Amino acid sequence: MVIVSSNSDSDDSHKLREKKRFVDISTPSDELIVRNEESMRPSKFRDFIGQIQLKKLLSISVEASLTRKEPLDHILLYGPPGLGKTTMAMLLAEEIGVKCHISSAPALERPRDILGIILNLKDCELLFIDEIHRLTRVSEELLYPAMEDFRVDLTVGRGSSSRIRSISLPRFTLIGATTRPASISSPLRDRFGITHRFDFYNFKELQMIVERTADFFKLAITKEASYQIACRCRGTPRLANRLVRRVRDFATVKGQNKKIEESLVNEALNLLHIDKRGLDATDRKLLTNLVQFHGGGPVGLDTLAASLGEDSATLESVVEPFLLQIGFLERTPRGRVITVEARNHLSQ
Ligand code: ADP
Repeated sequence: MVIVSSNSDSDDSHKLREKKRFVDISTPSDELIVRNEESMRPSKFRDFIGQIQLKKLLSISVEASLTRKEPLDHILLYGPPGLGKTTMAMLLAEEIGVKCHISSAPALERPRDILGIILNLKDCELLFIDEIHRLTRVSEELLYPAMEDFRVDLTVGRGSSSRIRSISLPRFTLIGATTRPASISSPLRDRFGITHRFDFYNFKELQMIVERTADFFKLAITKEASYQIACRCRGTPRLANRLVRRVRDFATVKGQNKKIEESLVNEALNLLHIDKRGLDATDRKLLTNLVQFHGGGPVGLDTLAASLGEDSATLESVVEPFLLQIGFLERTPRGRVITVEARNHLSQ
């Protein structure tokens, strides 16, 4: 695996995901060169926990494409950050036995950025574009014929002597990932053969992810302790991994390296202000603000974002989905409303 630059472990905020990156996975068996998030990704399709429907659907597509020696259909994956969209793209490449070229829309501002990548793709290779809804219009338009007919149309020359030159491309698969599917233009969305939503993980799946990560760090952990972390990681594997690292730090400092117990997890997570329902300081700030300054709602997203001093896109794609999922927040036509359950939780 050759990593030119990648996201750090603290990057599930929308802003940091804008960091330009390009990851080139050479061969599946290449040695891992970093012991961070990248090396914690499952390296086999079967090690990918949860998202059962998607795995079923994709294994059929992979088998069909291998049998027919054709590229996979273009795939659009959407859902909150940290749920495994990038990981799934890498695993698909592994399954097919091809390279996965990973980039993100902010790194592909100019058409030549995207051209540079697609002209160098080889037959059946995968191109993963993160935050695809942020592609510029010119880059997006360049992708239309590339996705549909595996060709790009370039304008050569200027003024009256200009002409269109078509260049054939290798047959490739585009995997687009986004946290904001509604922001993708319909011509682009229509060109994806498979569109799938990533859901939050249940406690059992998260517990398996926590135990897998603990194992990766050679950390012994009790069932009760791994379950506690699973309950408090907002249904998100990236956060589960991060909490394991924080608990590990805590155990090291406390000199409790033998076995991670539930009491140690509770102590560590309380210190991080992560409560029993997995709410962190930002979640509580949002809910408290909603009650104190907007009478519990309804209040528009932009007003709420302004009163919190947050960016509304981050609020909508990173903070809100989990609160909506656990029934602490409602989205109504007139704005956001706090639920009775959330009020009860805040008063505990
Ligand atoms: P996204 O692209 O949706 O933001 P990533 O694919 O980068 O999310 O996943 C973040 C981290 O979470 C990965 O490094 C990986 O270790 C872990 N992860 C995600 N999904 C799974 C899963 N289903 N099983 C095990 N680990 C996972």
